[in-house]
Amino acid sequence: MILIAGGAGYIGSHVNKMISRKGYDTVVLDNLVYGHKEFVKWGKFYKCDLCDVKEMEKIFKSNKIEAVMHFSAYTYVGESVADPSKYYKNNVSNTLNLLDVMVKYGVKKFIFSSTCATYGFPIEIPITESHPQNPINPYGKTKLMIEKILEDYDKAYGLKYINLRYFNASGADPDLEIGEWHNPETHLIPLALYNALGLTPKITVFGTDYDTEDGTCVRDYIHVNDLAKAHILALEYLNQKNKSDSFNLGNGRGFSVKKIIDTVEKVSGLKLNVEYGKRREGDPAILVGSSKKAIKVLGWKPEFYKIEDIVETAYLWHKKNKDKILEDLWKRKI
Ligand code: UDP
Repeated sequence: MILIAGGAGYIGSHVNKMISRKGYDTVVLDNLVYGHKEFVKWGKFYKCDLCDVKEMEKIFKSNKIEAVMHFSAYTYVGESVADPSKYYKNNVSNTLNLLDVMVKYGVKKFIFSSTCATYGFPIEIPITESHPQNPINPYGKTKLMIEKILEDYDKAYGLKYINLRYFNASGADPDLEIGEWHNPETHLIPLALYNALGLTPKITVFGTDYDTEDGTCVRDYIHVNDLAKAHILALEYLNQKNKSDSFNLGNGRGFSVKKIIDTVEKVSGLKLNVEYGKRREGDPAILVGSSKKAIKVLGWKPEFYKIEDIVETAYLWHKKNKDKILEDLWKRKI
């Protein structure tokens, strides 16, 4: 069985679906703070917080866990600056709890959701895995700390891991069973879709004076199902080679904020109300990754190359779930 910590969240639920369809049995753990119970349509589910070691031990005792995929983390960069304690406790301390339970129960394969935020401001583009890692906010630091802890756990306890450093996860399950649903939402594509669908009055572009083609920031958007595929390949790699490693997961091509907004308008046929605002603190002009290593070593083949196709899956999911998202937005505002 594969344990998926954070399997009720955006990326975790897509991985759970894909890996279940491939014939693996899964056990999902989620505290449902940001996750959605309705996203856990596959495998067993336990509502469990990773601070609860006793509960985790029970789960490890009563299920034959072979490997762990770990998606449970807080991911709001701004919040991590304002309240670092929350981030170090959840992303670092609770992950240590999980790793220690794994070691205690002899589970030695770990796939970790890391991030391009561990690189900090890029000194060269595209970013490869050997780029220096100097995160500029507590969120990125928590992820890098776990990467470092994993090196030591491998040496001391033989725990083998794969760090998957995501660029901008985007899109939704093409069957529209699950999708991207955060509250609060801070990401560009869903926020542009909220505006297109009339859920919010406007979308603000954060900065128009960057040194890029059209002055807006450039990011590398990778479809969530392509990310999911890489997790399965990473698991197979650990099963076959039993060797720890780190891989970037991106599309290798950058799209500007303006291009994303144009694409949302094109795909939806709807007009956005765009406001041009100031830069958001901590945003590098360009973040584009090289995923050559994952392609070569893991045999990964991302399928969603066209940004229109990525945005379309997201648009269709958001359109289908518009009322639910709106209701949720109001709930958290009260
Ligand atoms: N962005 C924007 N307006 C928004 C949200 C994001 O202009 O309402 C920009 C942001 O500054 C960044 C890009 O869109 O350059 C992608 O941001 P997102 O938060 O989606 O992902 P990040 O790259 O920060 O992980």
